[in-house]
Amino acid sequence: MTTILRNARLVIGRRILEDAWVSVSEHRIEAYGTGPKTEGVDLRGRLLAPGFIDMHVHGALGYSFGDADPAGISAIVNHHRLHGTTTLLAGIGTDLLPQMSSAAANVAAASLENLAGVFYEGPFLSVERKGAHDPNELRRPDSAELRTLIEAGAGETKLMTIAPELPGGIDAIRQIRASGTVAAVGHTDADYDVTKAAFDAGATVATHLFNGMRPIHHRDPGVIVAAMEDERVTCELITDGFHLDDAMIGYVFRAVGAHRVALITDAIEATGVGDGIYHRGTTTTVVSEGLAMLEDGSSIAGSTLTMERAVQRTVRNGGVNIVDAITSATATPARTLGIDNHAGHIAPGYLANLVLLNDDVSIEAVMSQGSWVSGRWLTQTTQP
Ligand SMILES: [Zn+2]
Repeated sequence: MTTILRNARLVIGRRILEDAWVSVSEHRIEAYGTGPKTEGVDLRGRLLAPGFIDMHVHGALGYSFGDADPAGISAIVNHHRLHGTTTLLAGIGTDLLPQMSSAAANVAAASLENLAGVFYEGPFLSVERKGAHDPNELRRPDSAELRTLIEAGAGETKLMTIAPELPGGIDAIRQIRASGTVAAVGHTDADYDVTKAAFDAGATVATHLFNGMRPIHHRDPGVIVAAMEDERVTCELITDGFHLDDAMIGYVFRAVGAHRVALITDAIEATGVGDGIYHRGTTTTVVSEGLAMLEDGSSIAGSTLTMERAVQRTVRNGGVNIVDAITSATATPARTLGIDNHAGHIAPGYLANLVLLNDDVSIEAVMSQGSWVSGRWLTQTTQP
């Protein structure tokens, strides 16, 4: 059965197609075009964009990918999907190795349509730049341990962050790449030269740029400058108003371009729950007015963002135009993860993952693989 969505403003590549329509057949986009259509769902001139892709998210609704059971994994995925994320990687933070492996195996076994694989943030990270990671479980890269972790994802290990300055760090990046996994640099005390070596070895992502790394100094440019100036590298940004000053959002977009910025949430289990005290292993996180901090106040501990709010803030506070913000929530992460042959764009044959946005950059409806998962007014108003 084919569904036509008409009277939309379509985000196609880096431009908006006015007075446009899309046809969806089963799970996929069949075609799109411009001009009036008399049949189909009237989208009332709203903006229709590809579904968002979050390559760095840890949890929601009290659940964390690090220890969630199948019901918890579904709950996290469904919560973020209501806020526009139709593709995500399950972010597993530093923990005991067997725990990380079993978490990855659970994610791989879940095989949910919106789950694109596993992201390991740790355990081969810098103690100096640990953020909220448990320093007792951080370790030097070890090729056997690395192989165990990658294999635990059963072919679904898509992304891994490491600190390249650790002994064996550069070799670990080569090993990650050789396994078909995307390598990221983050939670690192690396200087500029080591970071460049990491990119030359195959790392293509800077994990939450600015956070968990040396700040920029004119005599010590570090990861930030090395990442921003390297065309091969995607820079993740957490645009929650806490991790970065809003002025940095526009600055990075202007400096590197939307094709090299990936908006991420880094959302933790408090997302969608609210303020309170959260315990995970030996770590206690206090969430107050949406800001998640370690109990001792030493570090921010992830965010309570959704991709909807990340895109909103990028536009409203960062001054980035809507198409660029959407590119950084869709096409850029898709290309970075190597899934841009079926996700991240509105194009024939691509998965029918779509978000409908109003002028306020708020989500009015979400379509996941051809089915509306939110957006009640659509089904109500299209009844005869
Ligand atoms: Zn982090």
